[in-house]
Amino acid sequence: MRPRDTYAEPYKIKMVEPIRLISPGERKQAITEAGYNVFNLKSEDVYIDLLTDSGTSAMSEYQWAGIMSGDESYAGSKNFYHLQQVIEDITGCKFVVPTHQGRAAEHILMRVLVKPGDRIPGNMHFDTTEGHIRLSGAEPVNCLTDQGYIPGEKLPFKGNIDINKLEKELLAHGREKIPFILITATCNNNGGQPVSLENFKAVRRLADRFGVPVFLDAARFAENAYFIQQREPGYRNKTLKEIVGEMFSCADGCTMSAKKDALVNIGGFLALKSEELYQQAVEWQIPFEGFRTYGGLAGRDIEAMARGLEEVLDEQYLENRIGQVQCLGEKLIGAGIPIVQPPGGHGIYIDAGSLLGHLPHSQFPAQALVVELYLEGGIRSVELGACAFGHRDGTTGEMIYPALELVRLTIPRRVYTDRHMDFVARAAEAVADRKNSIRGLQLVYEAPVLRHFTARFARL
Ligand SMILES: *Cc1c(COP(=O)(O)O)cnc(C)c1O
Repeated sequence: MRPRDTYAEPYKIKMVEPIRLISPGERKQAITEAGYNVFNLKSEDVYIDLLTDSGTSAMSEYQWAGIMSGDESYAGSKNFYHLQQVIEDITGCKFVVPTHQGRAAEHILMRVLVKPGDRIPGNMHFDTTEGHIRLSGAEPVNCLTDQGYIPGEKLPFKGNIDINKLEKELLAHGREKIPFILITATCNNNGGQPVSLENFKAVRRLADRFGVPVFLDAARFAENAYFIQQREPGYRNKTLKEIVGEMFSCADGCTMSAKKDALVNIGGFLALKSEELYQQAVEWQIPFEGFRTYGGLAGRDIEAMARGLEEVLDEQYLENRIGQVQCLGEKLIGAGIPIVQPPGGHGIYIDAGSLLGHLPHSQFPAQALVVELYLEGGIRSVELGACAFGHRDGTTGEMIYPALELVRLTIPRRVYTDRHMDFVARAAEAVADRKNSIRGLQLVYEAPVLRHFTARFARL
């Protein structure tokens, strides 16, 4: 990876979308009316939106041109065949089931392979994956290495599966109870941390010993491949396509949220190597998503997805993408702001628990920081702490808090320039400078499930 100041963005801007920083008084009013929950803000009241990298990418001229060549035939659209050819070329999976987004691909995979009482081991399942496993009556089992959970641990592949934990799981429950292993790469839930090829291969060897298939949650497969090229001994001179090929040689198929590394605003797919499994998947695709060649998407959206997949393995794009995230991370560290180390692929996670050490979990330190970043610079970030993950004990009703209070700054792909990132870093520094005067929050409304989306707070 070259130093950030020796190159610039590998694209220029053809169309602009105006954004506006509303006045401090307007921001104060907006966040108060939103009940101090940024999910309730109007996006027009946000200056720099770092809520998520999902479906927020800027498409290229090549993708937009593809939108104009959408073939909206109900069956056999030419865009489907293009998508199929691109996916087979990248992943080696011949059989493609388009879906409206990633979770729909998860749904179909579970319907086909999972029965109540099963267990699905992986490094660390994403929220929707965990939800679908539970909805199938099965148990998600996270086998991430212990180091993967430690924010300050600066290791190159913190998304790796602990092979000993996985072996224990396979020995205890076997093929009967374990329909497949799922590797999420990069691992979203601990900060976009990559999985090494050595780990992919070790999982495959172990899986083969037990006759268990391996699937890949491929939402950020390209970012993962870039980290392998940069960090794993022996891969520096391999192309990203070769590395992705090796990753997929360890898998029987994948689920994909195209809203991430396919550089589109909506879409997903399930890709499979087995024709038999494909035929079963189509039986669920048709009633839930639509006919097998469109799967809940317009032909134009499928074309944009195919073209995004053609673009995403461009080395200069990924260098700039990962470099931008890393550069923001370094600026925050430089300002004395504690973050999860090393920076992952798609965002920076601020350790709000340690930055706002004077606020206990019960006063929502991460949410308080989210509010301050909005007040300071109109920046929308997201809380991953007491509100998102805290829950009440079933019997005592007592609050159980997560270990970490994190604030995620998620960077959309190809959307913001380094100047925007400089502004974010400066705003975060200004907030950190007045950290001791930041007050906590109290919940005034919470829904019984997924409360962080709709919660309302008051300032203490
Ligand atoms: C976003 C995401 C999903 C779910 O995809 P949607 O397109 O949001 O349904 C699954 N896994 C990972 C790792 C993700 O980041």
